[in-house]
Amino acid sequence: MNFRCFDCHQEFPATTRQWCCACGGAFEISERPRFDRDKIDTKVSTLWRYRAMLPAFKAENIVSLGEGWTPLIQARAYGLEFLAKLEFLAPTGSFKDRGTTVLVSFLKELGVTEVVEDSSGNAAASLSAYCARAGIHCKIFVPAGASPAKLTQIRAYGAELIPIEGPRENASRAAQRAAQSSYYASHAYSPLILEGTKTLAYEVWEQLGRRAPDAMLFPTGHGTLLLGAYYGFRDLLEAQLIDKMPALHAVQAEACAPLYKIYTENLTELPDIPQGETIAEGIRIRRPVRWKAILRAVRETGGSVVTVSEREILIAQRELARQGLYVEPTSAVAVAGLHAARGLHLRQTSCGLLAFAGSAGEDVRSRQSLVIPLTGSGLKAPF
Ligand SMILES: *Cc1c(COP(=O)(O)O)cnc(C)c1O
Ligand SMILES: [Zn+2]
Repeated sequence: MNFRCFDCHQEFPATTRQWCCACGGAFEISERPRFDRDKIDTKVSTLWRYRAMLPAFKAENIVSLGEGWTPLIQARAYGLEFLAKLEFLAPTGSFKDRGTTVLVSFLKELGVTEVVEDSSGNAAASLSAYCARAGIHCKIFVPAGASPAKLTQIRAYGAELIPIEGPRENASRAAQRAAQSSYYASHAYSPLILEGTKTLAYEVWEQLGRRAPDAMLFPTGHGTLLLGAYYGFRDLLEAQLIDKMPALHAVQAEACAPLYKIYTENLTELPDIPQGETIAEGIRIRRPVRWKAILRAVRETGGSVVTVSEREILIAQRELARQGLYVEPTSAVAVAGLHAARGLHLRQTSCGLLAFAGSAGEDVRSRQSLVIPLTGSGLKAPF
């Protein structure tokens, strides 16, 4: 397995301790395994049912807490019906576990004994849990103002927390300095993460009766779930198991929306925007590492980038809770994005409802479908 720079295509052995290319570009895996539906291990009810399509690891190095294979259930908001993928049911309470199980298995295979990461939230909680399971020492550089419930969780797993004053970037810089003598297990940079998050697409495809949905909405910061879904559906397209990519829509919080700015202003450089305050702390990302890949995925699939206000986020969060779905504000962002549905080319009837092909009461499999992953548990950010 090799890593390849997204920008200049230079290749690096996967054992490299560099987390990005000298040119600043982000790594991808150079030869990704092909999707083969006959190789799905249907007896396994975790994302490791796709082991044949994941990077190859020795069985004893696989670090799993039972992640993936999450339910897909019906939900509605603003009079629109959608299918909610319950990612908040993951072992540490967020979809981040999809990427972490693959990354930490890879680290175990490499024989890594200590890692560093900078995150105040779900990425660090997930990494801490899987490292605890693997017996890998985990140092987390935490920006000031991190959510107390998430810090408690990280500490409980036995990770070492190092508080860093100043803006968010200071924590990244501290982690990268520490990475000179350790391994930077970064959710934003490591291409192994996308190999894990791609399983979201495989699962949705299986759960819809081996079909792709028409569209998906993602709360987007670094875009690891959106990009994983892009890779996953592209694998299915290349295997001729679907004939069209779903439209992938990125939803950002108005207060911190670099991707929206690039999308609407057709920028060719990452803009330097202020780090606005938002309750959607999980996507408060000023400088998304893979912004070029995200924009490509959105444009190529006929998706879009939209923003939502703080008020819209709270309304969506409440609307979900009133259906028994308790998610953190960051997750509600994607559902709030439905509000902008008129711009999303979703099929709508005159009364504003999504026009599904099937009649009411029919199996979800026969309907036109819109899928929204509900990414993180409300228990970590009570409201
Ligand atoms: C990390 C996170 C996101 C955003 O994921 P990105 O990969 O940064 O786009 C969304 N929701 C929750 C709950 C998260 O923890
Ligand atoms: Zn490069």
